Amino acid sequence: MDREKEIVRISVIGIFVNMVLVAFKLAVGFLSNSIAVILDGVNNLTDALSSVVTIIGTKLAGKAPDKKHPYGYGKMEYVSSVTVAVIILLAGFTAFRESFDKVLHPEAADYSVISLIIIAVAAAVKLLLGRYVKTAGKIHHSEALAASGTDAMLDAVISLSTLVAAGISMAFSVSLEGVLGIVISVFILKTGVEILLESLGNIIGTRVDGKLSAELKAFICKNPAVLGAYDLSLHQYGPERLIGSVHVELPDDMTAREIHGLTRQITENVYRDFGIVLTVGIYASNTVDGVFAGMKKALSALLLEYPEVLQMHGFYVDTEKMLVSFDLIMDFKTENKAAIEGDIIRRMKERFGEYDFIAILDSDVSD
Ligand SMILES: [Zn+2]
Repeated sequence: MDREKEIVRISVIGIFVNMVLVAFKLAVGFLSNSIAVILDGVNNLTDALSSVVTIIGTKLAGKAPDKKHPYGYGKMEYVSSVTVAVIILLAGFTAFRESFDKVLHPEAADYSVISLIIIAVAAAVKLLLGRYVKTAGKIHHSEALAASGTDAMLDAVISLSTLVAAGISMAFSVSLEGVLGIVISVFILKTGVEILLESLGNIIGTRVDGKLSAELKAFICKNPAVLGAYDLSLHQYGPERLIGSVHVELPDDMTAREIHGLTRQITENVYRDFGIVLTVGIYASNTVDGVFAGMKKALSALLLEYPEVLQMHGFYVDTEKMLVSFDLIMDFKTENKAAIEGDIIRRMKERFGEYDFIAILDSDVSD
């Protein structure tokens, strides 16, 4: 709950600072007849709106899970990020249209020294606010907060450029207002598209971060009984709620009692150190080596001829059923997965005729 309070507190600061800036900029903009300064103010207004949406999103996301939504409401944060993106895009389109109009029908702006000072101070304030919000967003893993921080820093650059445009138009009496307005609009639109793509990606579901997946697998394999960890799959229900599963290879002479203790321990330790709820599935690994090691080696060598095959794991020989099973992970881009699988099984059968072979195609969900 601390996280939620912090995000709300920082957002409220952002809203307050932005509203003060909006008031000053709109006043200066209208008094000096400067579309660039007015748009700069409008841009700050979208920031304040974004912060309001961030607060609503965080509040909704913090709601405890219930019977109907047992995975919690964490994904509401992604929805609020999408809303923020849409607000920014709308502001960008409006700004673009207005600026284009100013290019066709230029009007000279008339700045006073006091208005230039106000713009300069506003830019500095915005830059500091942006840095503060962005850092806080990273600390609390809030995408919406980090995004609004980045946005604020970009806005400071926009404010500075209105200052430069004012200087140029005063020195050379040419109006850069419209052109600058278009540049500002493009920046606003770009920010909107980026936030939209990132939050949509999170809603659709993205690949587990490579660093996290390597760390988790190494952590699980630290247990001496675990021969390997595979098929790590994680689902995100908001930035703070990760649920998933992993498969571990264990010696086939372990008892249910031993496996029970081991898998419980893995689940508990992973939750303690990573905050991830992980279900552990198991593969047996032949403890009696000899012929099986040779067969596994032959399979590995054979697989080298298939660049589409990224990994083989879960290799196990059932000596009673004379059945060899293993999992294959193929590149997502592979088109003829079934044909390749059939080919591999046929070639293994040719060499080890007394056995049957079965391959399971796993998805390449994590590194
Ligand atoms: Zn597998």
